[in-house]
Amino acid sequence: MSAASPQLDLSGPIDSHCHLQSLDPGDRERALDGARERGVRGFLVPAIRMEQCEEILALCHRHPDVWCALGVHPHDADSWREGDDRRLAELLADPKAVAVGECGLDFFYDHSPRATQLRALREQWRVAVDLGLPAIVHNRESNLEMLEVVREPDFGGLKADFHSFAGGRAMAEELVDRGHYLGLSGMITFPKADNVREVIPGLPPDRFLVETDTPYLAPIPYRGKPNVPAYVVEIAQRLAQETGETYEEVCRRTGENFFRLFSKARAR
Ligand SMILES: [Zn+2]
Repeated sequence: MSAASPQLDLSGPIDSHCHLQSLDPGDRERALDGARERGVRGFLVPAIRMEQCEEILALCHRHPDVWCALGVHPHDADSWREGDDRRLAELLADPKAVAVGECGLDFFYDHSPRATQLRALREQWRVAVDLGLPAIVHNRESNLEMLEVVREPDFGGLKADFHSFAGGRAMAEELVDRGHYLGLSGMITFPKADNVREVIPGLPPDRFLVETDTPYLAPIPYRGKPNVPAYVVEIAQRLAQETGETYEEVCRRTGENFFRLFSKARAR
């Protein structure tokens, strides 16, 4: 069975993680147009905080090629309130909301207390499981704790995109075995990021997504500048170099992966 229905245009890459809400409102439309001119065929905007969700949904409804994930980032886990799980479930009824996120753990910055991060993560994943939606996961310096949550029986049925994945080969293999996906960001173009590229060979190519993580992590040759979704082209090109596929094959395959994982996005 083909993952993507025939009307989906997979001739260019899909930016599976771009925080357009972090750009000035005027720059958002410019960033989308600039990316489309380079052949980018879709955009997924993950929320950071609950109060952004409605604005992000409105942006999605103005553009047939933009979808979103709704949830609370681990940096802002201490903003996750009692009852937010019900509110999140209501917002996720919107056809443009295709995943829960961006949720996760970040023990590098520790902007929210770790116990709070873990509680917000579990509560958001429970919403995802209840609704049969995938999650978009942020994980930094928290591999062991993340894997413990991943292994909890409650989350056996969850499918997630571990975005801007840098967790190393053993974690990549376990996540893929459990049905998860790995998001490859501009880090795969950084000269010193062999530890990020090392997960690519040997893993099934049907589990990779490409993403910019706009406005962060601009790929080479734009490193240090603000990132924009147009630069997902450089990331897909680099992935093609690593796998030996053509650019067109990488776009088609990562696009099929995108619509398989975020299946709500198939109903354009
Ligand atoms: Zn993000």
